[in-house]
Amino acid sequence: MVDAHQPGFSLNNSVQEVYVNGTWGWPVAWRDMFPVLIQLDSIHLMPNTPDRLMWKDGNDLVEHSSSQVWHSIRRRAEEVDWVILVWFPQCIPKHAFLMWLVIRRKLLTQDKILQWDFTRRKNMNMMCCLLCYANVDAHDHLFFDCNYATQVWIKIRDKGGISSVGPAWNAIIDWLGARANSKSAINFISRLIVAAAVYFVWQERNARLFRNQTTPPDALANLILQTVRYKLIGVKFKECNRVRRLLEAWEIYNNLDDKGG
Ligand SMILES: [Zn+2]
Repeated sequence: MVDAHQPGFSLNNSVQEVYVNGTWGWPVAWRDMFPVLIQLDSIHLMPNTPDRLMWKDGNDLVEHSSSQVWHSIRRRAEEVDWVILVWFPQCIPKHAFLMWLVIRRKLLTQDKILQWDFTRRKNMNMMCCLLCYANVDAHDHLFFDCNYATQVWIKIRDKGGISSVGPAWNAIIDWLGARANSKSAINFISRLIVAAAVYFVWQERNARLFRNQTTPPDALANLILQTVRYKLIGVKFKECNRVRRLLEAWEIYNNLDDKGG
């Protein structure tokens, strides 16, 4: 029993040491000091019932889970029509993250930084794209209008069934968007390729800017294809002749799901 005159509570006390025989054992003096304790009188606990962690979501009391908490505290905007181009099952998360930034025009390219820092405008080198030295470091240029990036794009697009699409960003996004609801293997691969291209071109730009390291466009294109290929090796596809031929073009022979349709 809790002694009302010598409370002796510590942080290690459990509820059952405070709530005894259907009443809360707070010392009277505490009730004067902390009136909130009086409100607890109306709360009656069921004996011999295991503890459960709950989350109050508005007026609803629900089982606690981190996803439940996240969904109730986050600000939820309207779903955008490009969401599936960025986040899809079996995407490569770090590529998807960068793809998201590019679609939202959030990368810190020099044209953006110069908008804040006028003193830098005198230094033309700061504005220059380090992949081609012929234009400014900006979203629309890097993906993939830049001469360097265009060479990369032309080398990788065939493997994703995007041969007909030029290096202009809007054209690529329109092409992917028109096929956004397709679950076909080739559309999955085309999304992987575009996201990987965005990721590696940005990496190359940063390697030149911060580490003075350069990779030729052919080598970067090979790196993109190799990365997508490794991803594809880990994915189970439903078997059909079209998918088999597609994977053979990637030199992948053994990850078809025989049970698939
Ligand atoms: Zn360039």
